[in-house]
Amino acid sequence: MIKKFIRKILGVKDERDPTQPHTLGPDEHGIDLKLVSPNAIRLTQTLQEAGYQAFVVGGAVRDLLLGVKPKDFDIATDATPEQVKKLFRRAFIIGRRFQIVHVMFGQELLEVTTFRGNGSNNAPKDEHGRVLRDNNFGPQHEDAARRDFTINAMYYDPATQTVLDYHGGIADIREKTLRIIGVPEARYREDPVRMLRVVRFAAKLGFTIEPTTRAPIPVMAPLIDNVPAARVFDEMLKLLLSGHALACLKELRSAGLHHGLLPLLDVVLEQPIGMKFVTLALESTDSRVKAGKGVSPGFLFASLLWHQVLEKWTAYRAAGEAPIPALHLAADAVLDTQTDNLALQRRIATDMRDIWAMQPRFERRSGKAPYKLLENPRFRAGYDFLLLRCESGELDMELGEWWTAFYEAEAGERERLVTQANRPAPVAGEKKKRAPRRGPRHRSAEGTDAGADGDAGSNARLDASSSAGSIANSTDPGPSVSNIRE
Ligand code: ATP
Ligand code: MG
Repeated sequence: MIKKFIRKILGVKDERDPTQPHTLGPDEHGIDLKLVSPNAIRLTQTLQEAGYQAFVVGGAVRDLLLGVKPKDFDIATDATPEQVKKLFRRAFIIGRRFQIVHVMFGQELLEVTTFRGNGSNNAPKDEHGRVLRDNNFGPQHEDAARRDFTINAMYYDPATQTVLDYHGGIADIREKTLRIIGVPEARYREDPVRMLRVVRFAAKLGFTIEPTTRAPIPVMAPLIDNVPAARVFDEMLKLLLSGHALACLKELRSAGLHHGLLPLLDVVLEQPIGMKFVTLALESTDSRVKAGKGVSPGFLFASLLWHQVLEKWTAYRAAGEAPIPALHLAADAVLDTQTDNLALQRRIATDMRDIWAMQPRFERRSGKAPYKLLENPRFRAGYDFLLLRCESGELDMELGEWWTAFYEAEAGERERLVTQANRPAPVAGEKKKRAPRRGPRHRSAEGTDAGADGDAGSNARLDASSSAGSIANSTDPGPSVSNIRE
């Protein structure tokens, strides 16, 4: 009452009390209970029967309100992690500084978080204002205010089918608006990753970033440099695997976020020659994600950085290096910079190197070589990559088509294909039957013929080098790096 009076005197617009949520019933929010995971319903019910509050929260509520089946369910409760753990057979407390509980139901993992309080006001911060630790519990309205965007700060109780909205998230969902909670500058300073998140959500949901949420981003973008590289990498991966990678990259650029911050994106977005290749790679990634198929990060990053490798490969060869050592050097140089800047995990870097290293071997179509390559446990990834190179115009389509035929053929048919591929060169004009011995036509970044030395001599070097394991330097074959992971 007094607050209201003071506001009136000061001419401040009467804002809603941020400790009181707007409550919406099923008719108002329209959530289809069938889209809610039965395990999330069971989990919230168990917590509630034990006397605690429990809600589905965050991205799942946002997606439910948009009529989309959420990919995972986060639960928020006023029970402490220990109290949660006691109620479930398969529950594990994860993290020391920011404890959450993982509850398993069969294959489904649900993340249960205790409401966080206003701790971030006094929480330890780095010299740029980034919050380092934030593990104070608090009431629900404080938990809501700590969340990033209004559309991510709603709570859904499956038992009563009500939605609690503290920050106007419902209105923003209806207006397709991304609005940060609180003062944008302060929220980006606390956690610069929110700048990447807003871009990802805008691209993924097709929402508009509200002007005051957007305005500080180009100015504050350099703060991302202070975030641990592994966290930036995780966010980049989410962005690239969101099913809207192309849209995300465009959005990053228009928000002024790509420059100098994420070296990988500089490379990708400012390299017109490689753009066709990257666009194809991202389109295929996006459609795989949308179709619910798996995507390998190694394949994705190998694609994003391929033209950088190609450029360096050409340069090393122009300087007199033999093709295979030149490819090693190029891969090393590219991986070195990217590993420093992006914290590319070793496993991913190994996958990338293997995919790149396999490429010259596709140019050998005589003797046992193609059969050996087919047996390589990572053949499929290398082959998918080869097809991208053909489709982007870097290599002659004939090579990709030949490998497709060889891959799909029966044993007898394979022999015929090898014989056919090793016939003498046809006269000009008979493009389809080009002599493979001379290697496919490469159009490298410099427009030089990078395939010129793909002759028998270089192939011999190539095999010696790969069997020595110097390129494919992985001793542990690891999981399949194929882009195809059903
Ligand atoms: P999706 O899972 O579809 O990428 P999401 O919104 O569920 O989107 P998560 O990273 O799973 O994103 O986070 C769950 C919730 O935690 C968010 O909806 C938001 O409320 C909160 N959250 C996540 N990251 C942050 C952050 N950096 N700052 C503030 N709140 C955050
Ligand atoms: Mg989520």
